[in-house]
Amino acid sequence: MALVFKIRASVKNYDWGKHGPYSIVACLQKAECDDFKIDDKTPYAEMWIGTHDSGPAIIPSLGNIKLKEWLLSHPESLGQNIRNIFDESNGLPFLFKVLSVNKALSIQAHPNKETAEKLNQKFPDKYPDNNHKPEMAIALTDFEALCGFRPLSEIKNFFKEIPHLQNIVNSEIIEKFLTSDSNNELKSLFTAVMTCPSEIFQPHLSQILKYFELNQFSSDSVRDLFLKIYNQYPGDIGCFCLFFLNYLKLKPGEAIFLAANEPHAYLYGDCIECMACSDNVVRAGLTPKFRDVETLCNILTYSSRKSEENKFVPIIDPFDPCVKIYDPPVPEFAVDSIELKQAESKYTLKGLQTASALLVIKGEGVYDYKNEKDKLTPGSILYISSGCQVHVTTTTTELLMFRAYCNA
Ligand SMILES: [Zn+2]
Repeated sequence: MALVFKIRASVKNYDWGKHGPYSIVACLQKAECDDFKIDDKTPYAEMWIGTHDSGPAIIPSLGNIKLKEWLLSHPESLGQNIRNIFDESNGLPFLFKVLSVNKALSIQAHPNKETAEKLNQKFPDKYPDNNHKPEMAIALTDFEALCGFRPLSEIKNFFKEIPHLQNIVNSEIIEKFLTSDSNNELKSLFTAVMTCPSEIFQPHLSQILKYFELNQFSSDSVRDLFLKIYNQYPGDIGCFCLFFLNYLKLKPGEAIFLAANEPHAYLYGDCIECMACSDNVVRAGLTPKFRDVETLCNILTYSSRKSEENKFVPIIDPFDPCVKIYDPPVPEFAVDSIELKQAESKYTLKGLQTASALLVIKGEGVYDYKNEKDKLTPGSILYISSGCQVHVTTTTTELLMFRAYCNA
């Protein structure tokens, strides 16, 4: 039985995704699947590589059976660590994705394990998943996101400078926030804003819109961002989050790691994403989906930091300069970016004592394992069993791949 083989991802058509051939998700999926037709009007938002039941990967060479099903009969393929630490009947402990974002995703946070279990017990229809979902995004193109609370001084300045922003909540709450440096006052203010009734905040939001349309502002990026997000979600309470959360622009290869309870929203661009195998999201704005503002405001970590401090820096593999390791402080996953820059060269992927998934983003090559061999093109996804050492021969001068694996 083959231990290294190609798998096919599951594609999600959420409405915030880029459309047709503009979506990297659509292009990657198309490259390996002859029967996949790209429709110009359809959004292709996410590509899921893993064993989550809501978007399982399949094995085309085995009659399209689910990878999860195959793993049930070949659990040794996962490697001892996954089997010792996680429930092997769930398959891979991580979920590996590609995202192609055209408009803002919801303002969200992912609960920790304890809260995830509680929410699942209490509201199984709203929170069907009981796992936590730490996640990491690695930019493939220029990528924009909101992430973590801004330094308090920045938020205070917005509340002082922007007329009407102060009017949406009780002046006592504003006063306390402006005169204190406590995160508790930040929590009170954020909660008051996010739970403000529509009839109260709507007129003020319109006034802020008018103000930004007619006036220059000390921070051009915030003004432009407000106008852009308002245009995508007119009248949405989530527009206020721009004044609270850091606006981050990532260059290709730069990353953010979102621990439990960190507020965030992806705004634009393409990225690789990896997370614990879960779909657990608490949302509060910029979404047509179910919002749970109360839970979100309660679970958030109200720690402010500078925008740049949200970046998660990879390390260069000390044994292999072609590899950048993105290794967040969670056991479920780590991701390597592997960049080869010479045609016709033979490269050996490091042997791992855990199952992994390899995705080709750019360039072409051929992989071989024992006497099996196949082409690698953008969109190829290889499942590699624990302990297998795979060789790759490049056929183009550049080959960029990402590999997700369990890091327990
Ligand atoms: Zn998220």
